[in-house]
Amino acid sequence: MHLYGTQSINERGHLAIAGVDTVDLAHTCGTPLIVYDIALFRERAKAFKETFKSMGIQSQVAYASKAFSSIAIYEIAQQEDLSLDVVSGGELFTAVAAGFPRERIHFHGNNKSYTELQHAFDEKIGCLVIDNFSEIEMVKEIAEMRKEKMNVLIRVTPGVKASTHDYITTGQEDSKFGFDLKNGQADEAFLQLFNHPYIGLLGMHCHIGSQIFESDAFRLAAEALMSKMISWHEMHNFVCPVLNLGGGFGIRYTDEDKPLEPSAYVKEMATIVLSMTRNYNYPVPEIWIEPGRSLIGDAGTTLYTVGSTKEVPGVRTYIAVDGGMSDNIRPALYGAKYTAVTANRMNEPQSNRVTIAGKCCESGDKLIEEAYIAKTTYGDILAITCTGAYGYSMASNYNRLPKPAIVFCENGEKQLVVRRETYEDVIRLDIPLQKVKWGEKI
Ligand SMILES: *Cc1c(COP(=O)(O)O)cnc(C)c1O
Repeated sequence: MHLYGTQSINERGHLAIAGVDTVDLAHTCGTPLIVYDIALFRERAKAFKETFKSMGIQSQVAYASKAFSSIAIYEIAQQEDLSLDVVSGGELFTAVAAGFPRERIHFHGNNKSYTELQHAFDEKIGCLVIDNFSEIEMVKEIAEMRKEKMNVLIRVTPGVKASTHDYITTGQEDSKFGFDLKNGQADEAFLQLFNHPYIGLLGMHCHIGSQIFESDAFRLAAEALMSKMISWHEMHNFVCPVLNLGGGFGIRYTDEDKPLEPSAYVKEMATIVLSMTRNYNYPVPEIWIEPGRSLIGDAGTTLYTVGSTKEVPGVRTYIAVDGGMSDNIRPALYGAKYTAVTANRMNEPQSNRVTIAGKCCESGDKLIEEAYIAKTTYGDILAITCTGAYGYSMASNYNRLPKPAIVFCENGEKQLVVRRETYEDVIRLDIPLQKVKWGEKI
């Protein structure tokens, strides 16, 4: 059994997080319940920042907040002096509601709407990461109309194919994201942006995928971007002050995952940047990174209550829990693997082989195909670890299940940061027939 961060087994044989008994939490707050180990998030943030500092490199570590977006986590990110990546008007709105410093907000996305771009100008955010030619047109138009400057990065696809699941690779050429580095699109984008009076071109950005374990892929991407920046310097005498190398650092979900320390990936990339700048006499750029999963993933644990059990003789035992693909779609969406423990029986052998099923009406709604947990009965509390990234943020109301509550734990303290949805919340946007006439203000 792998205990993450401040997880421990307390004197009652229960799983504790930051010294808080998770079984008590489940009984007080109900389940499914997502519990975050905030000290672990802070520790990860500090490790990234420290790596750059120890190498003497100016940096920004941006929390890629699509992994888990809420006002409270944005407040913690601000406390840790992180920057923030948002990918939509909704995430930007959340950041503003959290009072996040605008100059450290970076806005991503392959299809930002005109309204979203205006929103970014309204808030005077730190940087837009420009993804395509139509966005260049829109950004120029808005900037010229307002006579307001906007800082931008050019997102490129460096042609690096990291060996991860196809759905989460984005660095290869055939991608919906960014300008191709090899076929001239990135150069064309540069020409359209670099000497515009209202555009502050900061440099280049790439994000090659997610849950990547090989540091080679990151090194190759950094090399490709540096080469291009060096060529722009030679041809146009333009120095990019920023190099943004994205996120995607892999984490440990199960025993099979063997990631490096998150900061080891950063070290690999920074090392190649330092050596290339030295060789080509290019000023060392500020390096920005954008970890999402590797900051928040293993800080999250989801608690469920065990319900029905179904034995298929000679085949398997299904243990059903009170959530599923509605709060964690990753297993159903791309076969993501997780680990579970029986939180109220931590001192019993976690050796009973079962399939953990959700409660949604889909055969594919299985959270863990092959889990090894203590013998469980109705009412036991099951904890699935490492659910902090892309769980709640991808949650839905499928089957009209209300979304879970979220609790932050740190130093023996706990606090509710996202309220559990009620059935009233679930029907909040419904309009009964003929209550509102067409065109009438709702
Ligand atoms: C999703 C995303 C990230 C974060 O990816 P992780 O795998 O969670 O680290 C970083 N940058 C961009 C542009 C992204 O879209």
